[in-house]
Amino acid sequence: MKAIRRFTVRTVLPESIAPLGKLAGNLRWSWHLPTTRLFEDIDPAAWEASNRDPVAFLGSVTRERLQQLAANEKLVARIQELGADLDSYLTEPRWYQSLGADAPRSIAYFSPEYGISAVLPQYSGGLGILAGDHLKAASDLGVPLVGVGLLYQAGYFMQSLSRDAWQQETYPVLDPDGLPLTLLREEDGTPARVVLPLPNGRQLIAHIWRADVGRVPLLLLDSNLPGNDEAARTVTDRLYGGGGDQRLQQELLLGMGGVKALRIFQRLTGAPAPEVFHTNEGHAGFLGIERIRELMDSASEAPMSWEEALTAGRASTVFTTHTPVPAGIDRFERAQIEHFFNAGLAPSVPTDKVLALGAENYEGGDPAKFNMAVMGLRLAQRANGVSKLHGEVSRGMFSGLWPGFDTREVPITSVTNGVHVPSWVDPLIADFARENFGAESVLDQRWARVYDVADEKIWALRRSMRSNLVDDVRARLRSSWKKRGAADAELAWTDTVLDPDVLTIGFARRVPTYKRLTLMLRDPARLKALLLHPEHPIQLVVAGKSHPADEQGKRMIQDMVRFTDDPEVRHRIVFLPNYDIAMARILFPGCDVWLNNPLRPLEACGTSGMKAAINGGLNLSVLDGWWDEMYDGDNGWSIPTANNGASADERDDIEAAALYDLLENQVAPRFYGSVTAAAAGSAGPSEPSHDGIPHQWIAMIKHTMATLGPAVSAERMLQDYVGHLYQPAWRAGRDATEDRYALARRTAAWRTRIQGGWPAVQVEHVDSLGVSEDPQIGDALTVNAYVALGNLDPSDVAVEVAYGRAAGDDELSDVTLAELRVAENLGSGRYLFTGDTRIEHSGSFGYTVRVLPRHATLASSAELGLVVNA
Ligand SMILES: *Cc1c(COP(=O)(O)O)cnc(C)c1O
Repeated sequence: MKAIRRFTVRTVLPESIAPLGKLAGNLRWSWHLPTTRLFEDIDPAAWEASNRDPVAFLGSVTRERLQQLAANEKLVARIQELGADLDSYLTEPRWYQSLGADAPRSIAYFSPEYGISAVLPQYSGGLGILAGDHLKAASDLGVPLVGVGLLYQAGYFMQSLSRDAWQQETYPVLDPDGLPLTLLREEDGTPARVVLPLPNGRQLIAHIWRADVGRVPLLLLDSNLPGNDEAARTVTDRLYGGGGDQRLQQELLLGMGGVKALRIFQRLTGAPAPEVFHTNEGHAGFLGIERIRELMDSASEAPMSWEEALTAGRASTVFTTHTPVPAGIDRFERAQIEHFFNAGLAPSVPTDKVLALGAENYEGGDPAKFNMAVMGLRLAQRANGVSKLHGEVSRGMFSGLWPGFDTREVPITSVTNGVHVPSWVDPLIADFARENFGAESVLDQRWARVYDVADEKIWALRRSMRSNLVDDVRARLRSSWKKRGAADAELAWTDTVLDPDVLTIGFARRVPTYKRLTLMLRDPARLKALLLHPEHPIQLVVAGKSHPADEQGKRMIQDMVRFTDDPEVRHRIVFLPNYDIAMARILFPGCDVWLNNPLRPLEACGTSGMKAAINGGLNLSVLDGWWDEMYDGDNGWSIPTANNGASADERDDIEAAALYDLLENQVAPRFYGSVTAAAAGSAGPSEPSHDGIPHQWIAMIKHTMATLGPAVSAERMLQDYVGHLYQPAWRAGRDATEDRYALARRTAAWRTRIQGGWPAVQVEHVDSLGVSEDPQIGDALTVNAYVALGNLDPSDVAVEVAYGRAAGDDELSDVTLAELRVAENLGSGRYLFTGDTRIEHSGSFGYTVRVLPRHATLASSAELGLVVNA
């Protein structure tokens, strides 16, 4: 039977336990252990049955039971206390408030996905989990963020396996009324609406759902409304679902609709207007167009030209790129963009200007494409990659946008990702830290005292977490096999899968090719031998979803699952379907070693190894992403990279062999206590420890927990974003806005003048004085540059001498820059610039001269992409 009408009946809570409502409604419970423990204690069975979802849990408690709870004095006191604790968490000054007025009052953060909790499945992988952690850490630090995203009816997909190990996808539909969301309503009670005009007179309407992530409101746009036609209704049906126009409409809704949603939110709640806009990856880039449209249409300010509005908008925008894989970048057909913008999405904005923002008009670009990352970079004055190595790779990847500059000058910096520690640390670790040294968090200085804790205690803790994982794996494996069509009678073996005393290695992540899920299967016999080693066995827990359209990824999963199905090894290696936050929270703490073997340098950062580290797991990883900058020789192992011209196949062979060697000779012996300090890494005598405790291994755990915890935390990441990007963007944005956008208008006029005059700029002649036939260290060198500036003024430019070591091909390295000053006006727009440098090292020395635009509003001298080299 189908209902003809549906209501959502809200639980009415008795007064004395009323705080349960807000404790369930604010997602802070997802990282606040005392709150989840409260729900669990109220009714452990119902808590489990609700999948640890407070909204579902409260909905399942009967009225009678609620009355009983309200009469339980001890419980009432606990509920009241936690309610008061939440209130003060939401209002008290935190780290950000110590910055005073020298920081933005509000920051808008846009992301296509958010991984906050298993109860709100709106993520596919690392990008979403990172966005969730960003909001949570912002909340803990009091950073006034407001998140913007889409509400997908089916989220990503649920993964299961067919009998022959092929990935199956299902898309269970979510009911927003059952999620921790409230609908944003106008004063008269009608739902607030965002409306975007579409081609052919159609419209895309969206409602706005609000989630509260601690102190951070998250606005999610939902197009599944009766007021939309069928095609518009399905725009937000699933995450990264359709291609082409559906994808483009999702991104238009996220970016342009997202800014409109923010304005409605401000109007209805009195929230301050965001002063900085942060685009998490290119998908949300259209937010920049909507902000330009606002400024061009503004009735209160004198309307602005495209150039002026662009200058003002860019100043306060931050763009984060997340992928060094060109295929991972969103691109549309130019014609698609034209089609949608010509329909009146932003009538005052010329469509050709929009098209120019995403144009791949550089070497190797495709003129028919519109590139969202390129637009992101052009719409943001500040941009970053997500680890040091990824920053470097991004500077190379996008260097075509700044021709004439050295790659290291490309204005893309980096902020290394982090993980939200309270969300990812196992409750046992939290309890352990409190009991042993009174620390609540891995960020606490007191973690250094982990060195004083007895090794046996750490070993026992690790075993408990490993054992929890083993239990979870057995349950999941049984249920997976039942879905694959096995009868109970065939499944007795699943009760003894894995061993809580065997070295446990985890590998879980999305399954794009570059992450090489199946590298470990390169030599199946060798892997088998490692799994079945008589003294030093290993066991492996593997998980990961492949994008539904990625046949190659599905084939890798099939190869992996077929290997794990082999009765000879199936007690030592498992593939668990449907990798998600709930699984991850048991998996990271339970693994002794976290394995990561991407093709370097294609992993932008990677965060799962960080989550393992804060739980005392050791990383075994290719030196890519975060591990490239944080591996220190004592906190894990690095898998060597064969990137010296080997073919893809040879490279897999070499790196897999290195992985097997490490596991066999270093990792496993150390775990089983048969490696002494002196023998680690060298061929020394193998000597088992006397008390059965691997002290060397535990020394590595202690070192990892004491040193990596603070470095990998999302609090460190947020503080980096605030200091390196949000504050500078806020200052630039504020300056641009002041005095009715006076500076933005002047800057735009200056930029136009510079761009117009630049073709006439030329370094006509350079000479140097002071260098003898036989130059020595310390010799002074006077450089004279004769520069033609056409209509530009010497104050518009910086003339620099760049000097350093000169290689055989004259390429300069260890470059030092020094500015030359105007010495003489030679007439007709020609000037002599001069300055002194000193030769500071021996060997081949070289220099060159260049001219760059100079203006107080430039965040980097490469910003305009203009340079004239001698
Ligand atoms: C952390 C996490 C990821 C991201 O892992 P990477 O190491 O960045 O690939 C993906 N999915 C889930 C469920 C996670 O918890």
